[in-house]
Amino acid sequence: MYQLIIFGPPGVGKGTQAELIAEELNLEHISTGAILRKAVLEQTDLGKKAKEIMDKGNLVPDEIMNGIVKETLQKIKKSGFILDGFPRTLEQAKALSEIFKELKFNKVIIINLKADENEIVNRLLNRGRSDDTRDTIVNRLKVYNDATAPVKDFYEKSGTVLEIDGMGSIEKINSNILSKLKEF
Ligand code: AMP
Repeated sequence: MYQLIIFGPPGVGKGTQAELIAEELNLEHISTGAILRKAVLEQTDLGKKAKEIMDKGNLVPDEIMNGIVKETLQKIKKSGFILDGFPRTLEQAKALSEIFKELKFNKVIIINLKADENEIVNRLLNRGRSDDTRDTIVNRLKVYNDATAPVKDFYEKSGTVLEIDGMGSIEKINSNILSKLKEF
């Protein structure tokens, strides 16, 4: 059973790669951003709370996100999962460790996607999502550097981290990830 976390800055290609890997390995693709965007569209209580936060490029509170992820992981039916967009804070990472312990997921692998900042800003500007305005992008990168980047150190100390260059073509990055995963 594959237990994967795909990690990296906004715009690095986490969503694209997670979707491909999920299909190739029959995994559940858990994108917290997609869960939130669906809630916004459906105007649920969660969506109403999340919309303004997302439009500014800030983070939805940890307690809310931890609850969503726990509930989703408890219901996994496929041959594993790939978490995309979570954890984004140290608090979330610690909560996730507890959830993994409880659910006996003990072979977690982190895929760390890297790309340089200029490339990331260009990709985001070309994506056209409602939270992809220049101001929001600048804030999302700041939030990433302040709150999310430390999560990587957390996993480097305690987990299996695969370093992947996120700068090439989608196909090349995908085959790099798959071949590194097969080493496990
Ligand atoms: P994403 O699609 O992963 O870029 O997420 C889009 C937006 O959803 C982010 O900019 C945040 O506002 C919110 N979001 C997604 N995942 C999380 C999370 N794990 N913690 C807090 N906010 C999140």
